[in-house]
Amino acid sequence: GSESRQLHVFFFPFMAQGHMIPLMDIARLFAARGTKSTIITTPLNALHIAENLDRDKKSGLDIGVQVIPFSAVEAGLPEGCESADSIMTEDMVGNFFKAVGMLQQPFEQLLEEYRPDCVVTDMFLPWTTEAARKYGIPRLVFHGTSYFSQCLTENIKRYAPQKKVTSDSEVFVVSGLPDQIEMTKSQLPSQGDSDNTFAKFKEEIQETEVKSFGVLVNSFYELESSYAEYYTKEMGRRAWHIGPVSRYNSSNIDKAQRGKKSSINEHQCLSWLDSKEPNSVLYVSFGSISRFGAAQLIEIAMGLEASEVPFIWVVRMDKNKEKDIFLPEGFEERMAGKGLIIKDWAPQVLILDHPAVGGFMTHCGWNSTLEGISAGVPLITWPVFAEQFNNEKLVTLVLKIGISAGNKVWNSWIEPRDVSVRKEKIKEVVVQLMGNGEDAEHMRRRARELGEMAKKAVEIGGSSYNDLTALIEELRVNSHQSI
Ligand code: UDP
Repeated sequence: GSESRQLHVFFFPFMAQGHMIPLMDIARLFAARGTKSTIITTPLNALHIAENLDRDKKSGLDIGVQVIPFSAVEAGLPEGCESADSIMTEDMVGNFFKAVGMLQQPFEQLLEEYRPDCVVTDMFLPWTTEAARKYGIPRLVFHGTSYFSQCLTENIKRYAPQKKVTSDSEVFVVSGLPDQIEMTKSQLPSQGDSDNTFAKFKEEIQETEVKSFGVLVNSFYELESSYAEYYTKEMGRRAWHIGPVSRYNSSNIDKAQRGKKSSINEHQCLSWLDSKEPNSVLYVSFGSISRFGAAQLIEIAMGLEASEVPFIWVVRMDKNKEKDIFLPEGFEERMAGKGLIIKDWAPQVLILDHPAVGGFMTHCGWNSTLEGISAGVPLITWPVFAEQFNNEKLVTLVLKIGISAGNKVWNSWIEPRDVSVRKEKIKEVVVQLMGNGEDAEHMRRRARELGEMAKKAVEIGGSSYNDLTALIEELRVNSHQSI
């Protein structure tokens, strides 16, 4: 009967690793809870995820992919540029979004043909609200960020204090939130709106979110309960928290296979970690798209070396992949055994979850931040752009599980500025976080407690588990009503 009819949900990620990875986890999670999950993506991205899907199908999940064409060349992009991490120059950004907008028509065709019960789509695909509405299908928005960051951005906009702040050294307090948050002008999310086009696009994202069925949040209630309440009660949004979604990858293979193919053999990586003392290693990574210039890389290398702390450092390749990344003379040889350098892509969750890892220097992308929290390790925060500065505030001021590296200004992820944090400061924060001082011990303890809560949240009966149950139930009722 209709009672047992299987729900069919479309998942449409924005094509960038930091957006695709969590939404893939979510698609698998829904399938594990009995829905049929279909991932919508473009040809090259589909190739990358095919291997993972094979594994999921073998383990009995009802999960598939629908491929829609990506008009890179028509939009003025080089052939094969289907992901934000293959954007090389500032002027490609606009063209990339243009090509993404051209996905609307093929997406609507799929809706017409399959009539799913719900679509979960990325915030950067705001037109999917209208597309879904045409077919009477609820759209859930996926931002890929925290409640805290959403609330902070909203209140910065609402009270617009930045207009009065003129210098970078001046701080202002963002009003109305459960905690008092201070920001400087150059940490604001509006820094990225270099032209009006992006500011308008953000407006559109906001408007379509309000009109959507609700928002899926990769977080858990216990982490930021007062902000979850603020978001739903004060801001009036409907939201379900179902994270940390990385925790649904329980086996080492699952952990190692998220995103791109690792540049290091996972066994080699694990045996390197096995040879280290518990909590002794610092993991250093700045996400899937930020890059640093040569001068900043050298400062990081020298700061790490001076700290004398064992580390794993993920260094993204030069954007043109033409020359090798730039490290100080003899650095890799000197660091043999002490520091493991992974060039390009690391099995991040596998590393973070290893008991030898005792700290994480992160750019505060939300996925990385939450993966660090889930692993129960304290953080060194080094935001680079976008809402990463918001996440830094959550970590350092609200949760108090991290130390700031002190970067105060946005950097372009495409054309990086030279140096924003010096080697002396890097050494100082690394020694402080990984050392035995009282503050560090407190942070470690709080981080460990949050890590435990994160694990419980996704287990049967946990807050995220239950919120997903409630959502699936509501989608079922909704789909019966629309039959
Ligand atoms: N990631 C990874 N290996 C890497 C770099 C990144 O597995 O070498 C994963 C990381 O675990 C996270 C995602 O890529 O899930 C990056 O997302 P995040 O929100 O942290 O940052 P973004 O890349 O969007 O700036």
